[in-house]
Amino acid sequence: PAWEKRARYSARVRSRNGISVLVTGAAGFVGTHVSTALKRRGDGVLGLDNFNDYYDPSLKRARQVHLERTGVFIVEGDINDSALLNKLFEVVAFTHVMHLAAQAGVRYAIENPSSYVHSNIAGLVNLLEVCKSANPQPAIVWASSSSVYGLNTKVPFSERDRTDQPASLYAATKKAGEEIAHTYNHIYGLSLTGLRFFTVYGPWGRPDMAYFFFTRDILRGKPIPIFKAPNHGTVARDFTYIDDIVKGCLAALDTAEKSTGSGGKKRGPAQLRIFNLGNTSPVPVSDLVSILERLLKVRAKRHSMKLPRNGDVQFTHANISLAQRELGYKPTTDLQTGLKKFVRWYLSYHSGGKMATG
Ligand code: NAD
Repeated sequence: PAWEKRARYSARVRSRNGISVLVTGAAGFVGTHVSTALKRRGDGVLGLDNFNDYYDPSLKRARQVHLERTGVFIVEGDINDSALLNKLFEVVAFTHVMHLAAQAGVRYAIENPSSYVHSNIAGLVNLLEVCKSANPQPAIVWASSSSVYGLNTKVPFSERDRTDQPASLYAATKKAGEEIAHTYNHIYGLSLTGLRFFTVYGPWGRPDMAYFFFTRDILRGKPIPIFKAPNHGTVARDFTYIDDIVKGCLAALDTAEKSTGSGGKKRGPAQLRIFNLGNTSPVPVSDLVSILERLLKVRAKRHSMKLPRNGDVQFTHANISLAQRELGYKPTTDLQTGLKKFVRWYLSYHSGGKMATG
């Protein structure tokens, strides 16, 4: 069929590194940037995405068009579809899987809890089942989340800190993902690297995230909620620019060892790694609004509100020394610079320019 031909072509390796990656969630925010970066350096890339309508599907379609221009083809399908996944592994002998497909967002879990179980638990298990039987077994890098630190208040968060107090169902499913990865590593020798992303932002971003809808609402003159924690403390996020996250993802992929699974030769225990990918400089959400006001040249209508108990934590702050040491990860974009690039993209995209930056 035509799609197989396109999939093979997209996954064809152009550089000598021999890397061919299945990117799940390729039409998503992070997936778009990671797929583009892999393709541009000559890796083979095939995307998979179910194009669900958690947020504006037309944005996912626009990202798809952008990816196709770069030479990345996306197969439309669900990570729970074993037959499709097996077929993809038949068509392409992937060396790596970059697993980014998930039900994201903490608040939506109140409305639609089962979508988190479907994608973040059942979907992950299904994908790992297929990877375990693939020959060769691919090394897997997957997106966990800073949300696993939950109600932990010891900052900055280090990978050794407790993660047994998730504050949302989203966080609980991301934490479960880490436990599931551990099991597949232990039993089947799959090589797995989990990346705990901290509030990622940038061009092609997610409309459900604060920096995105604050931009929209400031421009529309709508009130912007400034959340106050019950203890009157600051609500802050360790905002991390997408290009820094992409560098971390590629470094994780490049340092991932091949699996030691039943098909291959045993070379000692397979790799299971977990890294924080953050920016190490939390910014109060009120400062985020001030930066956006300056960039948009519009005053925001601030509206002070108590932080609701619907899954948001008060504070995130990454300790990145482990990723620095093992991956050479070093974020270089501050919030002001990164938001400038986001706003430029936002204005161009909404004026019909569909410009891609970053
Ligand atoms: P996103 O929602 O933009 O991307 C996820 C993509 O996966 C979407 O395009 C969606 O259509 C697809 N998808 C969802 N369920 C699927 C399924 N069952 N089968 C196939 N495709 C499916 O989110 P993002 O911001 O790009 O996040 C990427 C990953 O990083 C996710 O795993 C997310 O949980 C994680 N993460 C993101 C952030 C952040 O700040 N953006 C922070 C921490 C963790």
